[in-house]
Amino acid sequence: MHRRITRRDFINGVAVTAGAAFMPWHLLAGDESDPQKLRGYYPPAKTGMRGSHPGSFEVAHSLRDGTFWDSAGKPIDTGETFDLIVVGGGISGLAAAHFYRKAVGEKARILILDNHDDFGGHAKRNEFHINRAFRLGFGGTFSIESPAPYSAVAKGVIEELGIDVPSYSKYFDKHLYRSFELYPKFFFDKETFGADKLVINPIPHGGDDAEDPERSSAALLKRFTSEDPPISDQAKGDLQRLLLESEDYFPGLTSDEKKAKLARISYANYLRDTAHVHEEIVKMQQALPHGLFGVGIDAVSAQDAWGLGFAGFKGMKLDPTPGKGMNRDAIPNEEAEKYFFHFPDGNASIARLLVRKLIPEALPGREMTDIILTKADYAKLENPASPVQIRLNSTAVRVKHIGDSASAAEVEVTYAREGKVYTARAKHSILACWHVVIPYIWDEIPEKQKQALASAQKVPLLYTNVALRNWTSFQKLGTNTVYAPGMYHTFFNLDLPVSIGGYECARKPAEPIVVHMMKTPCHPGLPAREQHTMGRIELYTTTFETMERNIRDQLARTLGAGGFDPARDIEAITVNRWPHGYAYEYNSLWDSFWLEGGITPCEVARKPLGRIAIANADAGAYAYTDEAINQAWRAVGEITKRV
Ligand SMILES: Cc1cc2nc3c(=O)[nH]c(=O)nc-3n(C[C@H](O)[C@H](O)[C@H](O)COP(=O)(O)OP(=O)(O)OC[C@H]3O[C@@H](n4cnc5c(N)ncnc54)[C@H](O)[C@@H]3O)c2cc1C
Repeated sequence: MHRRITRRDFINGVAVTAGAAFMPWHLLAGDESDPQKLRGYYPPAKTGMRGSHPGSFEVAHSLRDGTFWDSAGKPIDTGETFDLIVVGGGISGLAAAHFYRKAVGEKARILILDNHDDFGGHAKRNEFHINRAFRLGFGGTFSIESPAPYSAVAKGVIEELGIDVPSYSKYFDKHLYRSFELYPKFFFDKETFGADKLVINPIPHGGDDAEDPERSSAALLKRFTSEDPPISDQAKGDLQRLLLESEDYFPGLTSDEKKAKLARISYANYLRDTAHVHEEIVKMQQALPHGLFGVGIDAVSAQDAWGLGFAGFKGMKLDPTPGKGMNRDAIPNEEAEKYFFHFPDGNASIARLLVRKLIPEALPGREMTDIILTKADYAKLENPASPVQIRLNSTAVRVKHIGDSASAAEVEVTYAREGKVYTARAKHSILACWHVVIPYIWDEIPEKQKQALASAQKVPLLYTNVALRNWTSFQKLGTNTVYAPGMYHTFFNLDLPVSIGGYECARKPAEPIVVHMMKTPCHPGLPAREQHTMGRIELYTTTFETMERNIRDQLARTLGAGGFDPARDIEAITVNRWPHGYAYEYNSLWDSFWLEGGITPCEVARKPLGRIAIANADAGAYAYTDEAINQAWRAVGEITKRV
């Protein structure tokens, strides 16, 4: 652990310090006004701090702080005019460009602006070369999946891109990790539980594993207890009771009455005050919903916990149809569950396929399979001869109609790039960016709408990819996935084994692999929105060096007994930092307007005005790719009526 980190504490020759994260925006100027055209410009291969990387957020933060225009100078008029300028190059922005061309014609001239150095928004691709093996990782959006079935519109786009969702089983090696007898494990850490110990994980995430009796709750619990976990006998008994027994804790109430009650209490309090389990059992489950909600069980309702298949509801006889006030993430739907596809770089493949449709010369090819190994040519994303251009490293700072919004023929978009400020004009604009940004860049809308936009909290997350030279320590310890509620990253797992389009996943423990680690910076005890605000500050103010130390420490403590040595086994680390991560989904513990059927803030927030409309997954308060597409479709419909 104490050996020097030599490979990765410098990113592109620049020492990563807290100071670098707070560089004034106008000092971020590079030598080139056109960075995408520099030789070797290839963001997917960058390691270190990615996601909202240094250089991507300073302009927006100085707008927020009211200092931007002090140092902006007079914007340079590019003289360009477009049919459409899209702000935000995530899946929603790319889909909006796609729908607009379908509505207006393929010759429509479109400019897409994004503040990051890569396109895709949260759907980002991470590449690694480890001992001559090529490995991909997902930097954000993991897969085609959604709690509810994809709409006809969203499915239509997936099909137009050539993605054959039902063919997924051809590419996914479902049995690989089972063939090595790898199991989910639970890591008790000494700071939370008094001792470091890796044991079998008995806690179900979504019910029993029906296919394999050896992986049923009862079988896993038996193994867990025999491995001498560092919890009291009372806690062990309570866990057994919670997992295996069927008690109705609210006798005499109807299913609807029970659900209404469960919607208003946190799962943590349900465990404590209703199921009366030992506090150690509450601590063990604290981080279970991190991956879906970005908060722990203190801030997720017991009703949602039931919907997600968490323990303690067997005897409650709850009607399995969705209840009022239930988070959509927690409503099981068989049709939706079947509609799943994971590319090795996650939904970055969707973003790349959309870019291929918009600018074919930048990502040539014909099939969903050949997209995997095709390198994007970033210089070609910004070719004035192409009807569609994607201008990266460009933050929109002002959007307005030229004249009165009711009668204007054009809009003007001002953006900052490499320390300079530019303007361009278009017939229309779609803001497919994060809603919290819009009040700072679009002054024309009513105050009430600005407040609704500002309330679109984002859920902060870290998606870390660690490139390892081999995974023999995992094999020796009999695990492919570890849940560690007390550690920096609360989950980590070996990459999902998917081979597609000539890309081969690791099949043998001696082969290089990517380990995916997930952290949500929570502050248990506070309301969910406050936890997200504090977590966002935490992510922006933690250096890559600190994160790297935490990663090395965690992997060494968890896998050391299997022979893992961080200095020897880690080849590279990419931390995908998303302080503005998932769209905020309404929470029945705090958001009563939603529980009571009132108009939701996202409906107020997404209202179009004149020639400008609003997209992004935030517009549906739903953190999924299908919603990003649905909202793009709605936004394009709103403005093309005027063409
Ligand atoms: C870590 C993570 C994992 C996820 N996993 C899944 C998953 O497995 N499946 C799923 O369906 N969904 C997942 N999601 C949800 C994901 O957000 C959506 O699926 C979808 O990718 C959102 O697309 P979007 O275009 O609406 O927003 P984004 O992807 O956020 O794109 C918006 C873009 O606008 C840019 N922008 C903001 N302000 C400006 C400005 N002023 N000027 C220029 N650009 C600006 C942003 O930087 C960003 O690049 C995940 C999200 C995260 C964060």
